[in-house]
Amino acid sequence: MKYKNTLAFAQQLDKEDKLAHLRNQFHIPKDKNGNDWLYFTGNSLGLQPKSTKEYINQELEDWANLGVEGHFEAKNPWLHYHEYLTDKMAKIVGAKPIEVVVMNTLTTNLHLLMVSFYRPTKSKYKIVIESDAFPSDRYAVQSQLKFHGFSEDDIIEWKPRKGEELLHIDDLEKIVATQGDEIALLLIGGVNYYTGQYLDLKKIAEIGHSKNCVVGIDLAHGAGNIQPNLHDSNVDFAAWCTYKYLNSGPGSLAGLFVHEKHSKNKDLPRFAGWWNHNKSTRFNMRMPFDVMEGAEGWQLSNPPILSMAAIKASLDLFDEVGMEVLREKSEKLTGYFEFLINEIGADNIKIITPKNPKERGCQLSIQVKNADKSLYQKLTENNIITDWREPDVIRCAPTPMYNSFEDVYKIVTILKNLL
Ligand SMILES: *Cc1c(COP(=O)(O)O)cnc(C)c1O
Repeated sequence: MKYKNTLAFAQQLDKEDKLAHLRNQFHIPKDKNGNDWLYFTGNSLGLQPKSTKEYINQELEDWANLGVEGHFEAKNPWLHYHEYLTDKMAKIVGAKPIEVVVMNTLTTNLHLLMVSFYRPTKSKYKIVIESDAFPSDRYAVQSQLKFHGFSEDDIIEWKPRKGEELLHIDDLEKIVATQGDEIALLLIGGVNYYTGQYLDLKKIAEIGHSKNCVVGIDLAHGAGNIQPNLHDSNVDFAAWCTYKYLNSGPGSLAGLFVHEKHSKNKDLPRFAGWWNHNKSTRFNMRMPFDVMEGAEGWQLSNPPILSMAAIKASLDLFDEVGMEVLREKSEKLTGYFEFLINEIGADNIKIITPKNPKERGCQLSIQVKNADKSLYQKLTENNIITDWREPDVIRCAPTPMYNSFEDVYKIVTILKNLL
């Protein structure tokens, strides 16, 4: 596609955009003059769909009118509420319904998954993460190592090469080829939160499995952004939050994936509660524990309906639109963003996100020379919401659901003036 650096061209792209109407289905925060903020942090907290309030109100009303009977009598009976989310969530991450459940929060799910899938022995116990893994993932892994009597130094980091920012899959291959006998688990961010690099999950799974290492993926920056095809990728497990690209509200519940090949393995060690007990006898209350098959077999508690109602509102919207068309617009939107930034031709900023659209989602990470945070602060003063990540990156995520080509044009115009 041949892009042009004019407002008229950006507006023309919006006019031709079949998804442009979706913006209206979201609350876009406004400045004090009533102008929409330029919101580029859907990768941190997605905006609120206008329908979310109705979905939550429905449950509040049913609770008010029905009390405990709402478990069976609510419009959407609460007893089965998590099941309403499964098929749509599975589609978003390219999984089979048996492989997916919505529960808890992301870091909690990572721990529960490591209970089952991080089974270190005296000689095979190390964990591979990316050198710039999200802090929560690193802390989770460190604490698991210590919990099992190892040291937090038993992490192996997959690092970018000297002077580079992005990861090479060959380097992971080398780590596993040379140290694989000591490695129990690879826990990798499918889309790196810092650089926006989208890694080849299938290849990571192949590399890990070649030396009998378990492979887990954190999809916090992938779900609702790229199409990860989790089932075909053959990774063992994955987890992601729903408040970033999935627009389900601050601190909302997380998704969990366990590959079908493990779905019937009742011998996998795991923590238990009444919600991973066989549904048909759960309420007999006195049965010995009988674990459910599939991802539901990792649940512990009865689910928080209000948070799930927000997820349901968002997933219904994703389902109506479909990831395929969203992704198509996303590549175009981010491609235009990249084109405009390159047009500025400034040598004090540099995009570190991969140039190949297949190796990134919607986010561009802009590295600022000399870690000059004032550029980010000035953007914020101009009601442009981006985020600063230490040491030196401004992350900007134009999302295909509610960002326009004009948004992208405007942010770059202001950026250019500030530079
Ligand atoms: C956002 C994010 C988290 C946050 O974890 P919570 O448990 O939801 O607070 C963890 N890991 C990654 C990679 C993230 O991007």
